[in-house]
Amino acid sequence: MGFCPKCRRENPNDAVFCAYCAAPMTAVPKVAAPAAVMSTTQQQTDVKPIATVGIICAVLSLFFFPPIFGISAILLGAYALSKASEEQKSLCWYAIIFGVIFMILGIFLGMLTAF
Ligand SMILES: [Zn+2]
Repeated sequence: MGFCPKCRRENPNDAVFCAYCAAPMTAVPKVAAPAAVMSTTQQQTDVKPIATVGIICAVLSLFFFPPIFGISAILLGAYALSKASEEQKSLCWYAIIFGVIFMILGIFLGMLTAF
């Protein structure tokens, strides 16, 4: 059942103009507007898995192949950051920061164990 946006009286669903006050029946575009807002929020990528893999790479870089896993962590973190929503950005920064710190620590540990 359609309702006139101006006078709020009932009209047939397929009515283009209100039968009572002749106002255009704009109810359909009004329903479509929230759906458009929904689709834009859904387009935002969930970067949590990418950032999590980045953090795992950062931790691995402490023990194995620091340059490979460290750079992977930084790249994954940076990529995730570019797609992240506001509340997920901190997680991406963890991947980048841990990537840098653990890569450097990993290289130092590697040098210590080599001698
Ligand atoms: Zn009306």
